[in-house]
Amino acid sequence: MYFDPLYLLIVFGTMALSVFASWRVKSAYARYSQVPARSGLTGAQMAQRILDLNGIRDVVIRPTRGVLSDHYDPSNKQLMLSEENYYGTSVAALGVSAHECGHAIQHQQLYAPLQWRMAAVGITTIAGQIIPFMGMGLLWLMPKVFLPITALCFGIVMVFQLITLPVEFDATARAKRVLASTGAVAPGAETAAMSSVLDAAALTYVAAFISALAQFLYYVMIMLGGRRND
Ligand SMILES: [Zn+2]
Repeated sequence: MYFDPLYLLIVFGTMALSVFASWRVKSAYARYSQVPARSGLTGAQMAQRILDLNGIRDVVIRPTRGVLSDHYDPSNKQLMLSEENYYGTSVAALGVSAHECGHAIQHQQLYAPLQWRMAAVGITTIAGQIIPFMGMGLLWLMPKVFLPITALCFGIVMVFQLITLPVEFDATARAKRVLASTGAVAPGAETAAMSSVLDAAALTYVAAFISALAQFLYYVMIMLGGRRND
């Protein structure tokens, strides 16, 4: 068995980064899901309003269980909002709902990064399933064969996380614009609170990208002979 200090640094560094990012989004959400927006709209009403404004009539808005389980499902054209956001009138509920609508609008407008992301889901799922087997020892038994496979898998995951960034940042930018223009979230404290939830959520995607990039570069470096594994 061998332990490369750089590898441990990458593993623990990226783990710490992702724990920090998810702690930030949870704490921002816990705080601002308790702050009602004066507009009094629920997340579901806000989402319906945004879809109407964009002439989107074939997307269904549904409540779903779980905290922050909100997502847009492009294959079934369903906007799933966690119950807390579906029924809630908080600035966090409006922010998250508007963000998910951003994805529905991207889908309607054939926003390129979303198209790429949808196309890459299948291969990324496969790469993600292969990676644990490499870590279980295959890599160190036959590095010549499995090192390039591992690097390729992390490369695929890294590209997927990279494509995810414009998709998420664009959805958040759209959410902020529509919440401001419709007056659903008041300028000042309400907008700042809503923004801090959405910005914290965006940071989790940046953290995921950095993790995948660090792992990918690590294996590329070993392949290029920068580090010997003996
Ligand atoms: Zn999103």
